[in-house]
Amino acid sequence: MQQSSVEFTEYQSNELGNEPENDLWNLRDLNATRICISLVCSIIIVSEHCPVHMPILRSLLIALSRNSSLRRFAESSTLGGRMSSRFVAGTSVEEVLKAAASVNRQGISTSLDSLGENVHSPQEAQQAAGVYHRLLDAIQQRQLDANVSVKLTQMGMDLDPELAYAMAASLVEHAVAANTFVRIDMEGSDYTQATIDMVSKLNALNANRGHVGVVIQAYLYRSKADIDRLLAEGIRIRLCKGAYQEPASLAFPEKADVDRNFVRLMQTLLPSGIYHGIATHDEKMIEATRRFVKERGIAPDQFEFQMLYGVRRDLQKTLVADGYRVRVYIPFGTEWYPYFMRRLAERPANLIFIARNFFRQ
Ligand code: FAD
Repeated sequence: MQQSSVEFTEYQSNELGNEPENDLWNLRDLNATRICISLVCSIIIVSEHCPVHMPILRSLLIALSRNSSLRRFAESSTLGGRMSSRFVAGTSVEEVLKAAASVNRQGISTSLDSLGENVHSPQEAQQAAGVYHRLLDAIQQRQLDANVSVKLTQMGMDLDPELAYAMAASLVEHAVAANTFVRIDMEGSDYTQATIDMVSKLNALNANRGHVGVVIQAYLYRSKADIDRLLAEGIRIRLCKGAYQEPASLAFPEKADVDRNFVRLMQTLLPSGIYHGIATHDEKMIEATRRFVKERGIAPDQFEFQMLYGVRRDLQKTLVADGYRVRVYIPFGTEWYPYFMRRLAERPANLIFIARNFFRQ
């Protein structure tokens, strides 16, 4: 039997509140965090005057996103939680549902992401899947315009691909019953083939068609071939640039090449007659998409733009006002650190914004 969202909310708050030395920890935490932020801000300020260093800063932030000590430190601190709130809609199911309802009121759809990746035990995977089942129940009960985004490593992919398949299959089955959709996020290139194969297997079941989709990253050389295969199978795709650190043997190192490939892939996806998501905040990519659909007579309800929670809300509103469909990806949960660091890596200047608010408090 599934726990109710209220039970889950209480469970999450206990998890957060169980630090016996909370006050002392917060003081140490405050000083250490201020030192860390000051250091990184100094690096950013230097980098902004020497743009050649930006890629180095990005790589540094991506490398830090995998640092387990920093992650433990950040995720266990209340201050870390406060800093991440720009990109993460709280820690509990109830909070993300409220955020989704509020985004829906602006005429924008949502995709809910319970943060977490690379779990270490089947129990953790079961627990993560349990959260998604609660989300799916709530989406149906509250009639939210929402679906869910899931990472296979959160479903136990590193431990046992069969386990991950079973978890994902039960989520898709639940999404069918709730008349919604499961998007399998794309992680680093070690998982690309396995993720595509798994989505293909899930989509091959008649009842699941149209209720499961995958993500393709424009920075990978292989993506055009992957898209051709997925389109032949009628699979819904979210196109994004890609957020992981990949070697030049697998991914375009230059942004201009990634952008060119993004446009090429978008032009392959949109005339396919399948409902896809164009996930970007890049005004040039958005403009290219708008121009292409106009030229080809593709109606605005045949696809959607997708953006991340807390990023370019101005653009989201403009697109809705212009009659396009927009979906916002809303992450939540206590395990926000890797996601947050990848967002900083995409735009290190965000750190200055966050630090400014932080020092004001
Ligand atoms: P960029 O060239 O990185 O940025 C263009 C402009 O957008 C920037 O100049 C800035 O103005 C704005 N911008 C971009 N990012 C930020 C930010 N963090 N904060 C503030 N402004 C910003 N990646 C994956 O690898 N796998 C996934 O499954 C995945 N799912 C995604 C789902 C959605 C809905 C979205 C929007 C992105 C997803 N991504 C995923 C991340 C994606 O790959 C990119 O890393 C991210 O979207 C930044 O690329 P961009 O297209 O916005 O262009």
